[in-house]
Amino acid sequence: MTLSKKRFMADYQAEALHLFADKLEHLSTLQQYQALAFLIKGYYSTNWAQTKATYDRQQQKQLYYFSIEFMPGRLLGSNLLNLGIKDTVEAGLSELGLDPETVYAAEVDPGLGNGGLGRLASAFLDAMASVGMAGNGNGIRYQYGLFQQRFVDGYQVELPDDWLRNPYAWETRKENRAVIVRFGGTVNLMSRPDGSLEAVYHDTDDVLAVPYDTAMVGYHNQVVNTMRLWSAEPVPGGAHSLEEKARVNAITQILYPDDSDTAGRELRLRQEYFFTSAGVQSIITHFRRYHHDLRLLPQFVAIHINDTHPAMAVLELMRVLLDDAGMDWDTAWQITVKTLSYTNHTLMAEALETWPQSMFSQLLPRLAQIAGEVDRRFRAAYTRRFGELLVDRCAPIADGQLRMAYLAVIGSHAVNGVAKLHSKLLQQSLLKDLYMIFPERFNNKTNGITPRRWVQIANPDLSALIDTTIGTNWRRDPRELVPLVAQLEDPQFLTQLQAAKRVNKQRLAALVHTELGLEMPLDAIYDVQIKRLHAYKRQLLHVFGILEAYLAIKNGESRPPRMHIFGAKAAPSYRYAKAVIRLINGVAELINHDPEMAGKLQVVFIPNYGVSLAEQIIPAADISEQISLAGTEASGTSNMKLMSNGALTLATLDGANIEIQEAAGADAMVTFGLTTSEVAQLQASHAYSAKALYAANPTLHRIVDMLTDGSIPGIASEGREIASELLEYNDTYLVLADFASYIAASKRLDALWQKPQQWAQAALKNIAASGQFSADFTVQRYGRDVWDVLPTTGI
Ligand SMILES: *Cc1c(COP(=O)(O)O)cnc(C)c1O
Repeated sequence: MTLSKKRFMADYQAEALHLFADKLEHLSTLQQYQALAFLIKGYYSTNWAQTKATYDRQQQKQLYYFSIEFMPGRLLGSNLLNLGIKDTVEAGLSELGLDPETVYAAEVDPGLGNGGLGRLASAFLDAMASVGMAGNGNGIRYQYGLFQQRFVDGYQVELPDDWLRNPYAWETRKENRAVIVRFGGTVNLMSRPDGSLEAVYHDTDDVLAVPYDTAMVGYHNQVVNTMRLWSAEPVPGGAHSLEEKARVNAITQILYPDDSDTAGRELRLRQEYFFTSAGVQSIITHFRRYHHDLRLLPQFVAIHINDTHPAMAVLELMRVLLDDAGMDWDTAWQITVKTLSYTNHTLMAEALETWPQSMFSQLLPRLAQIAGEVDRRFRAAYTRRFGELLVDRCAPIADGQLRMAYLAVIGSHAVNGVAKLHSKLLQQSLLKDLYMIFPERFNNKTNGITPRRWVQIANPDLSALIDTTIGTNWRRDPRELVPLVAQLEDPQFLTQLQAAKRVNKQRLAALVHTELGLEMPLDAIYDVQIKRLHAYKRQLLHVFGILEAYLAIKNGESRPPRMHIFGAKAAPSYRYAKAVIRLINGVAELINHDPEMAGKLQVVFIPNYGVSLAEQIIPAADISEQISLAGTEASGTSNMKLMSNGALTLATLDGANIEIQEAAGADAMVTFGLTTSEVAQLQASHAYSAKALYAANPTLHRIVDMLTDGSIPGIASEGREIASELLEYNDTYLVLADFASYIAASKRLDALWQKPQQWAQAALKNIAASGQFSADFTVQRYGRDVWDVLPTTGI
């Protein structure tokens, strides 16, 4: 949009007066932010209404992305950038005596997700708007988001995230679009006069689902899509006891803080059905305003299931088509499969979601009947060709459990993994039986990120340098970063690149100094590992690397100075992960208080990792630690964000790391460790002995001993627990097996650091190659291959 500074300043002052009946300069920073947010919302609301009207008028096929988590991050900066008014607004704010960064920082960061899964969903919504695809989000408006993390005596403490304490400026309550979701009760199938069956419900618990819509503003294209999040409320007019009201409100009160493995809890099942049913019902209601014949649904609607949490969309859509629309089973099934598609996010069988049939039938009796019929028909259709054994292994129901991943595959026309390796391994192991039956459904869609947030907003100095070097086309199409490689031999450019990195490091160092009181010299390597705390992600291996360096420096060896920066939340019930958090804080205490380590080696664990913190850490990173055990990380996306900011990846050959290496070049990152097939062989042969490695490698021996011999303060029981996992339980994630090659790889980075020009060249190769990982391309591949929804303003 076009906006002059003068007009903005007048509008902003008027908005402040309108909202708070006071002058801008008398308002709190939060109020200044709110006035600005409401003003910006007004700027795009016409386009928001017009986008919806256009989709309806042109009867464009729409995609609905069902995800139990979204992590949009702060939206003010992103909306200003995408509207093309960021510079104008910032100039206006400055002229009004306000600091833009301070105003931006007053916005809450909605933590409606745990990590990669939720952030991916939000990146996709941003990307779809930016390429002009008709894509909507469908999820849950949790009253409390992911816990706020503090450290007390080195332990993680969880505080509630009351993000709605102040009104959330970007959302719009749409009470006129509320729907009723039914739980429990009994259902009887009664014959209609025409012979068809009618499902009659008795004694159900009804819940009102109220949508709150948030605009997803496209980049410079006037497109504004919608993220719809549902809130549970008592049905108006019903006589509700306080207890009943509390039970209803509980449905959308809290986000489960586990990033995997939360099955088996009834409230979670309620959450899943709640947003899935509300989403499906509102899609059908909207569809029916324009069409009479539900058989046309797949022509106008695609529903995507992000992981298995919304997999009961298969059953809910069947329910609507069978019971509400009176369709026969075969027609309903055909439409369901054509409408739905599914993304798998894990390779770990134990992370696959299952629900006890008994719990499922109590809470969702009609869906349980439909699930039983899906199972019966699946077995009947494929047993003859594939044999009872195979079909039994992958049927939706077995051993009294409903297996959601299998249901999702059977009820969808397309199934994908999130990186080439992951998609291949799905076919070979986790979903191999269903791959035998439905090979044509399987495909790969490597994840992506939004460089608008991670480069343009988070890294203004790098962005400005790129603009002056190759122009601004990369801002729309980040593949246009490739021509930057022409600067590989330009010492002046490389110096400027280093200077931009230095500014970012300065900013992060200031934050760390304020928050933790630690000094981070700017000439040190900033070595970053930011992600959920999980055994498979192997933060422990990183800790072992730090202890190796500590011992070496103690021993008089000289190493380039390194700052090890962590950000990670652990699920509150995940004992081992919390033990590793305590360990990292213990190692930080040991090292940061040792005068011999000052300026050389420091450990910086910044609490409360989330999108906004990531925006501060990532631009400052020199090294990106992506060290999961090969075959365990489905894709990873922090690896992409960090590469696009010029960090060098220190990586195992896992997930998207492999594609990053292909893109940037073998000399632009450092890899180490067992490969997927070596891991599989080692595990199958039972030849691995962590104790033998411990006995054979003196450094490793020393480091493992440090866990239990009192060298590291405050970790007596946690150290024992971790040592026991390594030695008694034989090191499930092969930390000891990869230790030596990890250290060797890390030393290669130390050596490269001594040649700043070569380091800068490697950083540049990463930046130049990072554009292909933009989610703008990922969603277009989904649109073309899976959803049949095409970009309209895209690149
Ligand atoms: C990108 C992102 C993640 C995902 O990180 P991985 O290293 O891919 O697991 C998690 N949390 C936040 C806040 C992110 O921005």
